[in-house]
Formats: sequence, C-alpha cells, structure tokens
Amino acid sequence: MPNKKLVYVVSLGCPKNLVDTETMLGSLADVGYKPTSEPKEADILLINTCGFLLSSRQESIDTILELADIKAETGALLVVVGCLVEHNEAELKEALPEVDEWVGVGRYSKLAAILEPRLKGKKGRDKALPYYAIGPDEARLLSGKGYAAYVKIAEGCSMDCAFCKIPQIRGRQISRPMEEIRDEVARLAASGVKEVTMIAQNLSAYGSDLYGRGKLPELLKMLDNSASPPWLRLLYLYPLGCTVELLETIAASSRILPYIDLPLQTISDHLLKDMRRHIGEKRTRELVKRIRDIIPGVTLRSTFIVGLPGETEDDFNKLCDFVAESSFDHLGVFAFSPEEGTLAATLPNQVPAKVAEKRAKKLMNLQKKLSRQKLKNYLHQKLEVLVEGVSEESDLLLSARHKGQAPDGIDGLVYINEGQANEGDLLNVEIVKTGDYDLVGRIADND
Ligand code: SF4
Repeated sequence: MPNKKLVYVVSLGCPKNLVDTETMLGSLADVGYKPTSEPKEADILLINTCGFLLSSRQESIDTILELADIKAETGALLVVVGCLVEHNEAELKEALPEVDEWVGVGRYSKLAAILEPRLKGKKGRDKALPYYAIGPDEARLLSGKGYAAYVKIAEGCSMDCAFCKIPQIRGRQISRPMEEIRDEVARLAASGVKEVTMIAQNLSAYGSDLYGRGKLPELLKMLDNSASPPWLRLLYLYPLGCTVELLETIAASSRILPYIDLPLQTISDHLLKDMRRHIGEKRTRELVKRIRDIIPGVTLRSTFIVGLPGETEDDFNKLCDFVAESSFDHLGVFAFSPEEGTLAATLPNQVPAKVAEKRAKKLMNLQKKLSRQKLKNYLHQKLEVLVEGVSEESDLLLSARHKGQAPDGIDGLVYINEGQANEGDLLNVEIVKTGDYDLVGRIADND
C-alpha cells in the first residue's frame, strides 16, 4: 500500500453531497492527508455515493467496482460513504467485500477518527458510529476553484413527499444556528469567494426545527448585513414556505440574487394531493405570479416529475400548457421511477417507464423552444457575470455565469469570446449571440 498520505475522492450526486465531501477532505487534512487526482497514488480511495434514484445507485456501484480494481493493484483503503450506504448497508457489505469501510450519512466531520484504526493497520472499528449532524465548518476543504462555494444550512427533511426517499435516508431536518452560518459565509468571503450558494433539502423550512418557526428571511437579512460575498444564491425553495416575507426580503437585498428555484413537480390537483405536496394547482399558479410581482426580473427555475402514478395524457397536456404559460427560465424534468420504500411506488395506476420517458423528452423539447425564445431578450443587454475560467468547449473562450445561472452549468453558461478576464472576476459583458440555453458575450465597458 502506498504511504504518501494522499486521498482520491469521487463525489457523486448533488451539491449537498459535495459539501459533505469537502467536510471529509477537511477532516482528513487535519491528519495530514492531501487530495490527489491520481487514484493509483492514493492511500485512501473515497467514494461519496448518491442513493436518490436507481440510476444514481447504479452509478455509485459502478464507481465502487472501478476503484476496487485499483485497490486490488495498489492496496489502498477503499472507503464508501453517503446515501447509498444509508440506503442498504447490510446488502452492500455482503455483495462488495472489497470495500474496507462503509460510513453512512452524518459522520463526515469525524471521518479521520473513524478511519484511524484502519490506517494504523488494524481490522477496523468495533463500535457503532455516533451520528454527527452538521457542525461548525472549521475542517472543510473547498474542492472548487475558490471563487464559489456551497454552504449547507440544514440537513435532512421533515416533509413527506410520496415519491421521495430522502427523509428516510437523511433523517428529519436539522438546521444549523444562524450565527454559525453567518460566520462560515464570512470566512468564505474573506478567503475570496464571490458567490455562496445556500443549500438544504428544503430551504424554506430553515429554522423550524431549531427555533420553532421558519427563520429563512431572518437569516437572509443577517447575511445581507454581514461580511458576505457579493452573490448569495438559494437552492431550493419548497413552494409551501415561499412566503411574501421571504420574497420581499430577496427583492430588497443587494446580495441575495433574484433567482428562485422552486421545484413544483406536477400541476394537476389529484397528483399534487397523491404526492403529498400540500399545495394545489390554484395556489401554485398564484405563487408563480406572486414571485414575478414581488421580484421584478426574477429568474425562475422549476423541476417536474412526469409519469407519476395516475398521471393521464390529459394531466400531462395540462402540465405542458402550464409550463408554456409560466415561462420558466430554466427547467429540470425527470421521468418518475418508483423507489422502493416510498408511498408512490405502491400507488395504483403506475405509468409505464417508456411512456414516462417519452413525456419527459417531450416536455424538455418544449422547454428548449421556450428557452431559445426567451434568451433572445438578452441580445445587446449588459449583464454582470462571474468568470469561471477558460471554457471546456474551447481554449479561445472564457465561460461565465450571470446572476440567473446557478453553478455546475445546470442553467447554461455565458461564453465570452472577446476581452480578457481572470477566473473569479465579476464584470459586465454585452450579449452578442443567444442559443437554446447558452449566451455569448464580449467584455463590455466596465467603468
Ligand atoms: S421536500 Fe424535497 S427532500 Fe423533502 S420529502 Fe419532498 S422532495 Fe424529498
């Protein structure tokens, strides 16, 4: 086994998982381990898995098998953590004996202590692991480029959406104290981070477990008046908690971006009720209108699941009409897949997978046309962008994001084809070309 104190990490799934990965890297850094991009030189091969959907579980298992081959060559310690482990640890242990250590969610900041016996050549831990939710962030090691970071403000979820396994995997919501979040955001700003994206399973419910009522507007006001970075973004707001107070707080802030990601999932009343979304069609439509009224120029993103149990052709057509009328800036569409252990998997009138996939494709094609049309409004406009560096598409382009585009390219990018800039710069560009999801601009007069 190599002994250079290097760790190779694969972080699968969502940004919440990425924050967990960074916390684990921080914990290992405390005992001298540095990240490496070369798995064959690593002493520890670490995979942070995703267990959300069947496809993500399959990707996690494929990654474990790939790294198990490397472990067979190098003798490194193979460690698998995260949602997949929580999902079915016993089965996995039996099926994948090559894995040295399985660690479920909520133990990330103690990873070094958990692995200590293994790293000293012992057989491993003999006690059950205690659960540490999310604590102060001193150990976190940012894996990104340093100009943007995620901050997790709560872990878990106390809702009960019929299709979702997250509350079973991650547990009920545990919010972090406001002051702790403020201090972490200030530390990131001091280190040069320009954009902080606040994440949780359900941001709208932030604080309800800790303070007895939702405190997101209060937290945002606190961050707005603290040493925060210039861009603060929220991902995602559950419709029910998207209150007038919250929207007015966003509208009044100079730092909280006018960007709302509101997963609506479906629109017909009977489906919303079966999925236990606690909101009907009428209130959903009113909410979309209220958001646009209170935050002029807002970027609105949503997510829908098509092929939910009981979704008829009429329901799907109604959803397409709703999407066209609502003019979402960005849209994510998923074909429903019945997850074992959820209520939705047991409901009658399941829609065949092929039909669900066809509907997903059709809805995304519709959104593509709507998006292409909408982006034309940006032509010749000046937009403030955050430069991400040289584009993956071409060395001749820089890639950047404007305020209405979240990290990781989920909302498209702004490509800069004229002018000089550095990674992490915030500057104005003039849009010279528009596409289906992306924009092209040149660096404008920035005086
Ligand atoms: S609010 Fe989101 S995370 Fe929570 S149960 Fe519903 S879909 Fe799952």
